[in-house]
Amino acid sequence: MDQAVRANGNKVGLLDRLQAGPVICAEGYLFEIERRGYLQAGAYVPEVVLEHPDLVTQLHREFVHAGSDVVEAFTYYAHREKLRLIGKEHLLEEMNRQALTIAKGVATETGALFAGDICNTNVFTGDDVSKRAARAMFEEQVGWAVEAGVDFVIGETFSWGEEALIALDVIKQTDKPAVMTLAIHQAPETREGWTPAEACARLADAGADVVGLNCIRGPQTMLPLLKPIRDRVSGHIAALPVPYRTHDEEPSFQSLRDPAYPDAPGGRPFPVALDPFVCTRYEIADFTRAAAALDVRYLGVCCGAGPHHIRAMAEALGRTPPASRYTADMSKHAFLGSDPSLKQEYREYATEL
Ligand SMILES: [Zn+2]
Repeated sequence: MDQAVRANGNKVGLLDRLQAGPVICAEGYLFEIERRGYLQAGAYVPEVVLEHPDLVTQLHREFVHAGSDVVEAFTYYAHREKLRLIGKEHLLEEMNRQALTIAKGVATETGALFAGDICNTNVFTGDDVSKRAARAMFEEQVGWAVEAGVDFVIGETFSWGEEALIALDVIKQTDKPAVMTLAIHQAPETREGWTPAEACARLADAGADVVGLNCIRGPQTMLPLLKPIRDRVSGHIAALPVPYRTHDEEPSFQSLRDPAYPDAPGGRPFPVALDPFVCTRYEIADFTRAAAALDVRYLGVCCGAGPHHIRAMAEALGRTPPASRYTADMSKHAFLGSDPSLKQEYREYATEL
């Protein structure tokens, strides 16, 4: 992280880092903590920040170790509507403040950027009552993030462009940079019918510092949407796909179907049986290079991401994060290696493996 700190000791901010080159933001905390057995799929509320804060600290550290430039506070779905749904609205403020404290701690110890996070409210429907309700939810979460001293605020996974604009407006009331990313499902448009490029242009025109896409689509089906955004937006662009093998017929991770196990509960692999579709680190590296070639500078991986994906992304950008010390080197593998000291009999046997 040689570009992370100025000579005077101050941390270099998001916009200056983006001016200099790509910024990596690891996401996907819900899926990774669920996989580890400390968060329930379905409601997907990050109660783990209160119940097992050490696990969240550790995952933040693992992502930074792997190359993430950002520690994103785990406040995704820590909002009033989700907490109402599980009957724990009384924990709302405590959960947010705790998530922010955890993230700030890791950002401070590593020099990474500290980001607040808000997302789709699930109450927005387009009418005025829902707009006011969504705005109020954003205001309380952004308020806690600003009080915690975040470097910038992420607004993510909005399928309504209008809801994203409200979230952006709330962030812009503060002096914090705003990274706004849209969730594009099977139809390549927002729920009000805007193309991703149009929606991103509207957000950029409204003052978003970074605009783009995150979640829902894997590398293969997110990449084609980036060029039109690049053609339409002159500012910084974000792309944070899910690491799953979505394709033209099944462009979202919710739409993936597994012919090898068609009887999964719910009739689809999403969300907890997506294992057969996980991208390899090489596929994430390929996506990174292709997105970077479009000058997409805010890069990351969303739901399903593991630290190995983030390391592959960092290395595809020519970096060597601390985790690169352990990047695969098969030369000393007992059977498949090339080291001349390996037993010839084992190397010959390798052809039968
Ligand atoms: Zn996601």
